[in-house]
Amino acid sequence: VTTFKGKAVALFGLGGSGLATARALVAGGVAVTAWDDNPDSVAKASAEGIPTADLRSIDWSGLSAFVLSPGVPLTHPKPHWTVDLAKAAGVEVIGDVELFVRERRAHAPDCPFIAITGTNGKSTTTALIAHILKSSGRDTQLGGNIGTAILTLEPPKAERYFVIECSSYQIDLAPTLNPSAGILLNLTPDHLDRHGTMQHYADVKERLVAGSKVAVVGVDDSFSALIADRVERAGTKVIRISRRQVLADGLYAEGSRIIRAETGATSEIADLTDIQTLRGSHNTQNAAAAIAACLAVGVSPEQIRAGLKSFPGLKHRMQPVGRRGSVVFVNDSKATNADAAAPALSSYDRIYWIAGGLPKTGGITTLTSYFPRIVKAYLIGEAAAEFAATLGQAVPYEISGTLEQAVAHAAADSALDQGGPSAVMLSPACASFDQYKNFEIRGDAFVGHVRSLQGVAMLID
Ligand code: ADP
Repeated sequence: VTTFKGKAVALFGLGGSGLATARALVAGGVAVTAWDDNPDSVAKASAEGIPTADLRSIDWSGLSAFVLSPGVPLTHPKPHWTVDLAKAAGVEVIGDVELFVRERRAHAPDCPFIAITGTNGKSTTTALIAHILKSSGRDTQLGGNIGTAILTLEPPKAERYFVIECSSYQIDLAPTLNPSAGILLNLTPDHLDRHGTMQHYADVKERLVAGSKVAVVGVDDSFSALIADRVERAGTKVIRISRRQVLADGLYAEGSRIIRAETGATSEIADLTDIQTLRGSHNTQNAAAAIAACLAVGVSPEQIRAGLKSFPGLKHRMQPVGRRGSVVFVNDSKATNADAAAPALSSYDRIYWIAGGLPKTGGITTLTSYFPRIVKAYLIGEAAAEFAATLGQAVPYEISGTLEQAVAHAAADSALDQGGPSAVMLSPACASFDQYKNFEIRGDAFVGHVRSLQGVAMLID
């Protein structure tokens, strides 16, 4: 990045994206001084020629900016001394997304840039938009909070589309984030530990859409609905989306169909009924937002429909991985607590449910309304006895112990099911650490066991 070429900048946080940012600054001719709490990270950066020094020992007066890694939010108490030093010296505090937007403004102001935020569904919506753009033949870069540091992407240029997932922390550190299309999916109390109050959390999220050329806002929660009104009054073009209510203007869900309402006329813009990777009411919100953003940057409805149809889904999130007859095998390993398992349980009618692992407080007691959908439960890991007690007489279950046993038994039972289409689903409502290193490895193990079953057609590579 060249924004601060020839100038001096301090940087704190040398994890994945922090290191990528430091490299980009050095490559752009910026005089960086980088630091981290972790001596190993500092040593690693030094070893590749990034200048490092404890930021308490440097002269802040000559600095043009202080770059804070997005893993280190402004309100986080730990590196607060760095933010205090910057403030005392009158140095602005920014993050890697801000470096990107300044680069874009300087060199390619017309480069289409879609930014996505919200409490839930960010990664799905981000991946879906990128997939629609890519499959329509557009040069597309996908990154941000979803995993790829923004400054490791190709540089902005006129016909290149950027689809960037933004956490609150990244928005906090991007004062001039002005995307071509900004999406606020929803706002529910979450991460309040770091943001203090819901109001502050909402204010940060509002900034993303307030600065957008077109703002796409989910209006099913009261915070977001107010934000849509406020941003519109301030003169921004707003496209409202809803999964729960009919809108006079905007995009809304009618069952699995997405309807576009415009100046009194309505038309169906997409039908998600047969799209396995976008099952569930929560995904109608994600799809409606993706459609609205794609329309805003000039993608045709035909291209959008084609992209929706071929969306492969995100790994470990309600991902259909295999099929045998009328049974679909679903990897929802990311569901590490009961709340996260709820969307998957609400998305299928006949479920052979593989659950368990390291239980969280409360277990699965909040999921009882879904129990009628569960044909049988296969319980694994440390949570098995506790979950069995909750299922009680309401749901047939077995203590399978291991994931391998659970898959084998659920597959065998579902093969005999005469009751209609069903799903064998790993949606554990538990952390993985009793049996696996993380939820990704647990999900991969599930896929491996499904793959080794006889007669299963895999839906993924
Ligand atoms: P995020 O990136 O915001 O964490 P993801 O797209 O990774 O969200 O989805 C994570 C989980 O959140 C999904 O498995 C699903 O259970 C739930 N989810 C996804 N989209 C929504 C939505 N629009 N509203 C509520 N919950 C959702």
